[in-house]
Amino acid sequence: MAQAIRKVGVVGLGNMGLPIARTLAAAGFEVKGFDTMEERRAAFSPNIGSLGDLATASDALLLSLPTSDIIEKVVAEAAESLTSGRLILDTSTAEPASSRRLQAEMAARGIGYLDAPVSGGPTAARNGQLLVMAGGAESDLNRAAAVLQAIARQVVHCGGPGTGNVTKLVNNLLCAAHLTLAGEALALAEAGDLQPEALLAALNVGSGRSGVTELNLPRWVLSNSFDSGFSMGLMRKDVGLALKLASEVGLAPRLATAAGAIWRDSGASVPDSEDFNRMVPYAKETSRR
Ligand code: NAD
Repeated sequence: MAQAIRKVGVVGLGNMGLPIARTLAAAGFEVKGFDTMEERRAAFSPNIGSLGDLATASDALLLSLPTSDIIEKVVAEAAESLTSGRLILDTSTAEPASSRRLQAEMAARGIGYLDAPVSGGPTAARNGQLLVMAGGAESDLNRAAAVLQAIARQVVHCGGPGTGNVTKLVNNLLCAAHLTLAGEALALAEAGDLQPEALLAALNVGSGRSGVTELNLPRWVLSNSFDSGFSMGLMRKDVGLALKLASEVGLAPRLATAAGAIWRDSGASVPDSEDFNRMVPYAKETSRR
C-alpha cells in the first residue's frame, strides 16, 4: 500500500501558493516551499533553494504556477528527483490537454498526478475553504484526500485526467462573462436612477443573481477595494484557455467569444497587474455611447 502523505513540497509561493502552504503547515503537514523569485521564497519558512531538493524531500509536490508552459518545465525537472509512488497535485489553472499529457507521462514513471485547480482566492486558501475540482485516477484522489481536505471546503472529483481543468475553465469563463455583464447592468441601473445597493438587494433574491452579484460586486467593486488577490492577467489567461478549448472541440460560442474580445480589448486601459474586478467599471464605462 502506498504510504500516507506527510511531507508536502509547495512549488510557487505566490498569491495562492503561499497561503496554501501555510494552511497545510497549520493542519500538521511537514511543508517546505520553493519559488524562483527569492522574495517569494523568503516569505515562507522552511524554503528550499532548488526544485530537485524539494522533490527529493517530499511525499507529494503541490504546484501553484501561472501557466502550462511553466508547469511542464517544472514537472519535467521535478520528475528527475521523484521516485515511484510519489504524487503531484497541480492546483494551478492550466490547459486540460497539457494536464492529460503530464498525467500519462508521470503514470509511466509510477508517479501519481491530479489536475486539481481551485476556486476561491487567497482568503479561501488562507482559511482552508477552497473548492477543488479534481481530474485523475480515483486511487490518486484517495491518496491526496487528506491534503486536499486541509485546503478545501469541498473536493469534487470531476472525472479522468484534464477534467478538473475543463471544469475550472468553464467556471472562470462564466465568472468573466458575468463580470462584464454586471458592469453593463450597473450602467443601465445608473441611467434609470437606481442606486447599485438597491439593485443588488433585489437581484440577489431574483433570478438574475450570480456569484458576481452576490460576492464580487459588494465585496470588491462597490466597496472600491479591488483587492481580491486575482489579477486581470490571470483571468485573461483563463478566458483565452476556455475559448481555445472551445475552438479545439469545434465550438464557436457567440456570447463567450464576445466576452473574450472585451477582456482582450480591456488590456489597452486595464493592465494585467490590476484586480480582475476592474472589468466591472471598464464594462460600465465602455457601454456608454
Ligand atoms: P502568482 O503570480 O501570485 O504566483 C505564481 C508564483 O509562481 C510566483 O510567485 C512565481 O514567482 C512562481 N513561479 C513562476 N515560475 C516558477 C517556477 N518555474 N518555479 C517555481 N515558482 C515559479 O499567481 P497566483 O495568483 O498565486 O495563481 C497561481 C495559480 O492559481 C494560477 O494558475 C492561477 O490561475 C490560479 N488561481 C489563482 C487564484 C487567485 O485568486 N489568485 C484563484 C484560483 C486559481
